[in-house]
Amino acid sequence: MWSHMRIGITTTVPIEPFLSSGNEVVDLNNLFIGAEEPSRLVEEAQVIGYPRNICSWIKGLYAKSLEMDGVVGVVHGDCSNTESLLDTLRLKNVSMHPFSYPSERDRDLLVGEIEDLCTYLGTTLEEAAGEGDRVEELRSLARKVDELRWNGLNVSAEDAFGCQLSTSDFDSDPDRWERGVKDIISNAGKGDGDQEGPRLALIGVPPIITDLISTLEDFGGRSVFFETARQFTMPSSDGDWIDRYLSYTYPYSIQGRIEDIMEQVRMRKVDGVIHYVQSFCHRQIDDIMFRDALDLPFLTVEGNLPGPVDERTKIRLEAFLDLLEGE
Ligand code: SF4
Repeated sequence: MWSHMRIGITTTVPIEPFLSSGNEVVDLNNLFIGAEEPSRLVEEAQVIGYPRNICSWIKGLYAKSLEMDGVVGVVHGDCSNTESLLDTLRLKNVSMHPFSYPSERDRDLLVGEIEDLCTYLGTTLEEAAGEGDRVEELRSLARKVDELRWNGLNVSAEDAFGCQLSTSDFDSDPDRWERGVKDIISNAGKGDGDQEGPRLALIGVPPIITDLISTLEDFGGRSVFFETARQFTMPSSDGDWIDRYLSYTYPYSIQGRIEDIMEQVRMRKVDGVIHYVQSFCHRQIDDIMFRDALDLPFLTVEGNLPGPVDERTKIRLEAFLDLLEGE
């Protein structure tokens, strides 16, 4: 049975089984992008044979997976490359477990997946259920920070984004994470609070560009909606802990995501949408549907390697913000 192992995850998966098993959960994306030299990790994966025309996130995940005792990879509902990623880990004798979000939001199928995950981690569904209230309490703090951001700009965009994004693993230490987020909440309103500037929505996969959000702020934009990061907080708290993973829009149909985005941009009085896409990612195709459905000024920004915003993208962001300011 597992005990106190470091288990990597390739995206948000039900976290309750990790907590009840006593193992440490590590979001490999955050570990990769927070590394000292994330580009070097991409290189490392290319040296062992990962193709250049495959998304950099996957290569970073591979490099960081090698530091783990085990990896849970979402093979359905996230990334079409994860199955191959797990195959390469198998070759390196890294313990791994595939997890799938069922296509049709079928509760029984999802429960079956979570049960298998529990078995892999050395816990049970009943024990995992016992963590449901604690997880919801933590996520509600991240949602509070989100609200402090869009409804008054009382916290910085980086804090709002970071708190929501990190609910995937609570920075591998839920108690420390809770203290940090509570500090942000208690200091809210003492920050910028500058109400001027176009209100922005950032949709799509989390950016590999490390300073995209701060650059938008520097150019006078006010990011008030982070679609995917917000979804990691499981914003629909109806039903039990399993239901939250059924309401989570990201792994399911694009239509559910569009409805969520439309509702939020209206409520948050968004002036313009930035769709972040990753080079060589199949989810770039979503851009067609988003552009068609969202009746707002829309800019698609593409990133490839981890690092700061490049000059060409800076010019495009500035021009987009000028356009919004002129409206
Ligand atoms: S950006 Fe796209 S290709 Fe890359 S890991 Fe995410 S879903 Fe997969």
